[in-house]
Amino acid sequence: MKAELPAKKKTKVRNIQTIIVIYSIIALIMSFDINKIRQDFPILNQKIYNRPLVYFDNAATTQRPQQVIDALNRTYTEYYGNIHRAAHFLADKATLAYEDTREKARNLINAETREQIIFTKGATESINLVAFSYGETFIQEGDEIIVSEMEHHSNIVPWQLMAERKKARIVMLPIDDTGRLLVEKLDSLITDRTRIIAVTHISNVLGTINPVKLIIEKAHARGIHVLVDGAQAVPHLKIDVQELDVDFYAFSAHKMYGPNGVGVLYGKKELLNKMPPYQGGGEMISEVSFAGTTYNELPYKFEAGTPNISGVIAFGAAIDYLQNIGLETIASRENELLNYATSELLKINGLRIYGTQQEKSGVVSFNVEGIHFFDLGTMLDKFGIAVRTGHHCADPLMAHFGIQGTVRASFAFYNTMEEIDRFIDALKKVIAMF
Ligand code: PLP
Repeated sequence: MKAELPAKKKTKVRNIQTIIVIYSIIALIMSFDINKIRQDFPILNQKIYNRPLVYFDNAATTQRPQQVIDALNRTYTEYYGNIHRAAHFLADKATLAYEDTREKARNLINAETREQIIFTKGATESINLVAFSYGETFIQEGDEIIVSEMEHHSNIVPWQLMAERKKARIVMLPIDDTGRLLVEKLDSLITDRTRIIAVTHISNVLGTINPVKLIIEKAHARGIHVLVDGAQAVPHLKIDVQELDVDFYAFSAHKMYGPNGVGVLYGKKELLNKMPPYQGGGEMISEVSFAGTTYNELPYKFEAGTPNISGVIAFGAAIDYLQNIGLETIASRENELLNYATSELLKINGLRIYGTQQEKSGVVSFNVEGIHFFDLGTMLDKFGIAVRTGHHCADPLMAHFGIQGTVRASFAFYNTMEEIDRFIDALKKVIAMF
C-alpha cells in the first residue's frame, strides 16, 4: 500500500521543489556568459562597412565556434586518412573519430542504436535518400504522400520526383494565416492510399514549431509513416526520436554550428533494412561480382563512397559545444531574443510579421508596406546587419500569403539584445529613406 504524506508535509515538499526549480533557473542564467560565448566565434568580432557585424541569418547557416574550427584543423594536421578498412595508424584514428561522432549524434537525438545514424551531406540529401529508397520499396502507383504547405523545397521536390517516377500523388496539408499547420485536417486528408507524411518540425520562414508528436500519433494510428525535417529544430530543441516515435528524422550540421556538407538521417531499423541503397559505390557493399552484389549492413549500406571525413569529425565538436551550453538554455535565450525583436518590430508602422504562432523558434519574417524586401535587406547590409531576403526556398508558403518574399531575421544564442537594438535602429533609418 502507498503511504500518503500528511497535508502539511506535502506543502513543505512542494515548497522545496519550487525553490530547487528557481535555483536551477538562476544557475542556468548565471552560467550563460555571453561575452565568453562570443569570444568562441571569431567571425562575429568584425566590422562590415565600418560597422560592427550583426549576424541575423542563422536559419540559413550558423557560424562556427573556435572549437569546431580547431577540430577541423586537428583532423588535417594530425590524423587525416581514409576511414574504415584501416590498416594504418592515421586511417585507424580517423575512423575512430568519425565513428565517435556517430555515437554523439545518436546520443544527441536519443536514437536507440548507432546503426540508425546515417551520415549524408545535409538535410536535403537525407530527405532525397528517404524519398528515393522508401519510395522504391513502399510506394506504388496511385499511392499518396502528404506534404505540408510550409515545407522547404527540400521536403517537397524529392517527393515530387519520386511521385513522378512511381505515378503517385502529393497531397498538401494546409496552414492558416497565423502560420499554424491545420493538423485537424489530417483525418480527412488521410486515405487508404496514404503511405507517408513529410513535415517540418520548425518552419524556416514562420518559425512555427509544429506538433509533430501529434502528427506521428495520428499517422501511426492509420498505419502511415512519418518523415520529420528537423533542419531548423535540432539546433534549438532537445530532440528525442524514441519519444517522438518518428520513422525518419533529417538534419544538417551547418545549421548547428558544425561544418557544411554534413547531415544526418535517422531512421527506424526495420524500415531502413527494407529500403534499397540510395547510391552505389565503395563501403556500401558486402561483396561485388559481375553475377551480383550484396550490400553492407546499416548504416554503411547508405554511405557510399568516401564521406566528408573531417567534416563529420568536426561535427562531433559542434555537438559537444551545443550540449555544453545545453539545449534548454539555448531555447530560452533565443526565445528572449525573439520576443524582444518581435515587440520592437511591431512598433513600426506598416510592418507585417508572417508567422504569429505562440510556439515559435527564433525566426521573424516580415515585410514593410511599400518597400521591396530585397531593398530592405540590401540597405540593412550597409549598416552591418546580415538578414536574408527572398522566398526562403518555400514558394508554396509565399503563395499562401500572396507574396514574393520577405525579410527574415533569425537568431542564435550568440546574438544579443544590443544587436536587436542596432537592427531596429538601422531598419527605421532604412524605412525613412523611402
Ligand atoms: N529544411 C529546412 C526547414 C531548412 O530550413 C533547410 C535549409 O534552409 C533545409 C531543409 C535544407 O537544408 P540543407 O540545405 O542543409 O540540406
